[in-house]
Amino acid sequence: MLIVFIGPPGAGKGTQCRRLVELLDIPHLSTGEMLRSVMDQDSALSRYVASYINAGKLAPDHLVMRIVSQKVKSPDCSNGALFDGFPRTMVQAQMLDDLLTELKRPLDIVLELQVPDDVLITRLLKRAKTDGRADDNDATIRERLRVFHEQTKPLIQYYASQGKLRSINGTHSEHEVFDAIRKALPVAT
Ligand code: ATP
Ligand code: MG
Repeated sequence: MLIVFIGPPGAGKGTQCRRLVELLDIPHLSTGEMLRSVMDQDSALSRYVASYINAGKLAPDHLVMRIVSQKVKSPDCSNGALFDGFPRTMVQAQMLDDLLTELKRPLDIVLELQVPDDVLITRLLKRAKTDGRADDNDATIRERLRVFHEQTKPLIQYYASQGKLRSINGTHSEHEVFDAIRKALPVAT
């Protein structure tokens, strides 16, 4: 099963995706985590990636796509995958469609986690104190939210018109949100 998981920064994508991949036994492809692991190295590429992420901007589409397409084609993903935080722009969505058409493996479902901005800001400022992520500070958080509304929001309509979108209220407890996700899946779990 191929699943896309969309949500604003701080929506709880990481947490819910970890539970979902365990349930479905498919790989978790988090572009945020992949990019952070590139940033942990000491190279020209890591500094290039950091210049985007630490400013709250999206990494360039072609770079993200290169990382993702390599993973999707690997044998690990022969039974499916969960895309967390990808695609995040219309260009990425189009490139993913092209890739999956080429592989003859259409997307099964797109899960959207909905959380209002004020709740997100509170959550991210709290996470800033505990996780020490360089992009969790007031200015960057606001920029990431702005970028989400401008660049990622249009994907919701795009996938809705393909009949693939399932929207989930992400403000409830971790357990309740996961229950709603399970019910939205196209297979019984
Ligand atoms: P959450 O807290 O819900 O997991 P998040 O937005 O805080 O979400 P990530 O998804 O881990 O965290 O993304 C962190 C950063 O990595 C983004 O702000 C962006 O700069 C970069 N990034 C992640 N995915 C992409 C992508 N598909 N395209 C471009 N940049 C990306
Ligand atoms: Mg994340």
